[in-house]
Amino acid sequence: MEDIRGILRQYWGFDEFRPLQAEAMACVIGGRDSVVVLPTGGGKSLCFQAPAMHMPGMAVVVSPLISLMKDQVDALADCGVPAACVTSMSTLNERQRAAREARAGKLKLLYLSPERLMTESTLDFLREVRLSFVAIDEAHCISEWGHDFRPEYRMLRRLKETFPAIGVHAYTATATAHVRDDIARELALREPEFLVGSFDRPNLVYRVQRRADRMRQIVEVIERHRDRAGIIYCIRRADVEQICASLQELGYKALPYHAGMPDEDRKRNQDAFANDETAIIVATVAFGMGIDKSDVRYVIHAGAPKSLENYQQESGRAGRDGLEAECWLLYSDADFVTWRRLQSELSPEAAKVAQAVLAGIADFCNSAVCRHRTIIRYFGQELPDPYCNACDVCLAEVDLVDDALIVGQKILSCVLRVQERFGADYTAQVLTGSREQRILDNGHDRLSTWGLLAEPGKKAVRDWVEQLVSQQFLRKTGEYNLLSVTPTGRQLLRGEIVPKLTKPAERGRQVSRFERESWEGVDRGLFERLRAWRRGRADARGLPPFMLFSDATLRDLARRRPSTDEGLLLVHGIGSRKSAEYGAEVLGEIAAYCRDTGAAMDVEVAPPSRDAQPRRERARDPARSAARTQAYRMFAEGKAIDEVAAAVDRSRRTTIQYLVEHIEREGIADPSPWIDTSTFERIATAARERGIDRVKPIYLALNEQVDYDQIWIAIACLRVKSSR
Ligand code: ADP
Ligand code: MG
Ligand code: ZN
Repeated sequence: MEDIRGILRQYWGFDEFRPLQAEAMACVIGGRDSVVVLPTGGGKSLCFQAPAMHMPGMAVVVSPLISLMKDQVDALADCGVPAACVTSMSTLNERQRAAREARAGKLKLLYLSPERLMTESTLDFLREVRLSFVAIDEAHCISEWGHDFRPEYRMLRRLKETFPAIGVHAYTATATAHVRDDIARELALREPEFLVGSFDRPNLVYRVQRRADRMRQIVEVIERHRDRAGIIYCIRRADVEQICASLQELGYKALPYHAGMPDEDRKRNQDAFANDETAIIVATVAFGMGIDKSDVRYVIHAGAPKSLENYQQESGRAGRDGLEAECWLLYSDADFVTWRRLQSELSPEAAKVAQAVLAGIADFCNSAVCRHRTIIRYFGQELPDPYCNACDVCLAEVDLVDDALIVGQKILSCVLRVQERFGADYTAQVLTGSREQRILDNGHDRLSTWGLLAEPGKKAVRDWVEQLVSQQFLRKTGEYNLLSVTPTGRQLLRGEIVPKLTKPAERGRQVSRFERESWEGVDRGLFERLRAWRRGRADARGLPPFMLFSDATLRDLARRRPSTDEGLLLVHGIGSRKSAEYGAEVLGEIAAYCRDTGAAMDVEVAPPSRDAQPRRERARDPARSAARTQAYRMFAEGKAIDEVAAAVDRSRRTTIQYLVEHIEREGIADPSPWIDTSTFERIATAARERGIDRVKPIYLALNEQVDYDQIWIAIACLRVKSSR
């Protein structure tokens, strides 16, 4: 495995394995058949790519989509890994070249579609070359129980009998045990090792909201990620068209994607998204498996998905690079009605299953249980921590209603008072004291429950009605969804059970710790500059930008700001090939930026590779973080900068960095322990004119008389002050 680590570092620039990658690679090297189940973005490709580099001979990779194969082969080439793919689209020339290279032992990976692999001529050919192993990507395609069955995958049944001595390894993100067993059986794997990873994606923040003003809700999310990639999922094509048109009218770069569009339009829009030409794609679920784009920063569901499994898959397309990303689910009860209608054509058994999973997602929407927990429970797993710190519930963006029992009783009594003959809207109107004609005509303004909940308002009451329905205190019946009280509801009325009701918290959206940390120390100006450089460079290379360097790599560059080749190789995601290919340009960009802004270079960073270790597994480098912690403590005790620097054995520059962190962590707005008042006043005045984002202009405005260190400290305090 040590050799594999070296390969990881050299070709991919990664320092750490993601969870289960090491185990999965060990199976491949050891020739033990395996079924590896990791969530989208879990890093399955590396599980077979790295061993292929280590083992003698050539590995065959089976994949269902041409676009997926081509993307992976391009990305591998850019890392210096010799790979090729042969598809139905390949020209004779390309096929012959691949065959020649394979025979000459020059290829480490050959990507094939299942039908091409299983032709007699290909099998004959493979008998002649040295085959290291076979990897089956998206292996759930072999199971009718999976969400994407492909009959051609069934041909792979004969693989094991054709190559009995060769290891076969299956990879999928589909977690159900049923699919897993299907895969092992259909492929006739021999005593396979099952490796099933955690289905939790700690870098995703989940938020669920009832859909009210759809465009406003969507735009609010987009605005937080201006010019960043995002996907908006809709249930129906009509919604795709509408939302996309509205966004375009508002001046956003958005493109549609759905099965009703001509193939070439779809392909064009998908490419535009991959190449960062459009930031937003508005799509039905038809948009999905073909995209490995790693820097999707948000996924919005403009309507409820049809199951929690779908939600996990679709929202999982955000944040594959391991950096923070947001997943918003905007739902309305109408969505569930729509799904039920769409499912009415299914066979009775299938419809029953569909309804059951639909109830699961409806529950997810209406309940106030940690979203991460609910999702992974669906896959039979548990969270270790009580709070995930990355969902609207755990971030306390929704508040529990204190007097939920009384509120619940008021609502249920009202339902009884109107004799269970009205729907949710009407009931909410009565409770909030509406004087609409219909209510007056029915004499319902004279009910004792009329206006009982006027103060929380109609939207809140309407919401609570739904929550009570999902907790089965109320039931909707008949064509008009009339509300009635269930037996459990009777218990509530008697005060024997307390419902759990939520309302939006006043403090609004919170920043998750993950989000804060993954930007820690990153110079955002430099990040933007590198991003612009990447875009131009990728264009010239004809590659999607995220394949050149991931956002995680750009952030690490903008954090460490290396000045040498050596420093460059410390950066997450930069191996020797990338360094040779792009190193000089990147170093040039960084040096120019740091010269302009006065940003420090060669910043020491702990821990080494942030995104390789999601929040819950993160292990810190003890020596490095010990220095940090000691520095923080000494600053808190009022020790001078030089004294701290000597004690923790770090340069003055690094120590100032620790101090800046200390100031931000503790929220210190008063710089007087480190800067005298008049100097601070001068810096503050210059900062008011020049802004606090860049140091160099302030330095110049002060006629180069105040040193950078003092400016850094002053700015940190000014930031704290302005964030209050
Ligand atoms: P999956 O196929 O499981 O959905 P991918 O193989 O496409 O996931 O990997 C998702 C992202 O994670 C890619 O950008 C990949 O480069 C990155 N990645 C994979 N393994 C590691 C690792 N050990 N350290 C850092 N990044 C990794
Ligand atoms: Mg994959
Ligand atoms: Zn949570």
